[in-house]
Amino acid sequence: MTNAVMGNYGRIDLAFDHGEGNWLVTADGTRYLDCAAGIAVNTLGHGHPHLVAALKAQADKLWHVSNLYQIPEQKRLAERLCALSGLDQAFFCNSGAEATEGAVKMARRAMHHRGETSRHTILCSEGAFHGRTIAMLAATDRPAFREGFGPMPEGFDHFPFGNMNALRDRLVADAETGQPEIAAVMIESVQGEGGAKPLPERFLAELRSLTEEFGCLLIADEVQIGVGRSGHLFSYEASEIKPDIVAMAKGLAGGFPIGAVLTTDEVGKAMTPGSHGSTFGGNPLAMAAANAVLDVLLEDDFMPDLRARAKVLADGVDAIAEDCGMFCRRGNGFLQGLVFQAEYTAGDVVAALREHHVLTVPASENTVRLLPPLTLTRDEISHLLAVLKKTMTAMKKA
Ligand SMILES: *Cc1c(COP(=O)(O)O)cnc(C)c1O
Repeated sequence: MTNAVMGNYGRIDLAFDHGEGNWLVTADGTRYLDCAAGIAVNTLGHGHPHLVAALKAQADKLWHVSNLYQIPEQKRLAERLCALSGLDQAFFCNSGAEATEGAVKMARRAMHHRGETSRHTILCSEGAFHGRTIAMLAATDRPAFREGFGPMPEGFDHFPFGNMNALRDRLVADAETGQPEIAAVMIESVQGEGGAKPLPERFLAELRSLTEEFGCLLIADEVQIGVGRSGHLFSYEASEIKPDIVAMAKGLAGGFPIGAVLTTDEVGKAMTPGSHGSTFGGNPLAMAAANAVLDVLLEDDFMPDLRARAKVLADGVDAIAEDCGMFCRRGNGFLQGLVFQAEYTAGDVVAALREHHVLTVPASENTVRLLPPLTLTRDEISHLLAVLKKTMTAMKKA
């Protein structure tokens, strides 16, 4: 019989029985240090007591009611996310692609509401990843992902990664038509799937002024780099800017499916009753999980300590990189990429690290991504670095 599970993933032959903190444990008791965190999802590792207690308590009370009714846990999360982000309104859904696609709908609708009906194009960066729905495949810059899924929807275009001049030229040309088409620029401050690739210094700040100058919106795709992973709750905080729209998902509820779109009042007010929706979006279980994740991230010393631990990790990886000469490091906080030279294959490195019971994730541009839970301890960082060093020594070609 063929496998009943569809073959759309290249799965490794490895299964886990349970998790303990930042470790995953197989049925025979073998422990793996989890520096993948379910692709940037398990913000607090596995079985975090506060998260487990919050979800259990909510499970006893109420799971789902739909957005036909008031949901107090949803109101609380919306208020907290708005206060933390500087934005005004929140919409909840269930995944990253649903959040980025919702963000695109809201940007177009805001332009429509302004009376700028020619503005529907979303400019994305080359190398961007925004999800796998049909529309987000058009926003994502991976031709291979689109094969056989066409036709792609219109209204998406790409500019060269980190190239402010090319972007400005594009916006100037658009304005000169007298009927501008660009509604928004959508950007990851660090491209996750693109290989932990950060934008150049100052790019976000300049992009913010540019979008204001040309009357279009700025959408921050914080699905992977958000929720503390950069060392800030929202990665754009480091650039001291405020986007018009923020898409969140992955780590927001620590492993419970969730997505969120945060907007300014100007964007949010275009979203009148009936204009958008999601059946499961913002249900009490997801809201309880996300509120519990925030409780931990907002503890007084959590974020400063996270930044200090991320620096220990980055410095340690840099020392190994310098020593072995096989890769260089890039990234931010707990989204780090080891970009390997062509004679080494990222997939082989991921497999070799796994042999030593450390889990990582491959990404574009021959990159191995480190995406640990934000709770990774100093001792666990030492363990990761020791395994990395040993693995590099063993793999090094003469
Ligand atoms: C993972 C990801 C998405 C898509 O999220 P899904 O939950 O898989 O739909 C969108 N944007 C970025 C930056 C991501 O990393």
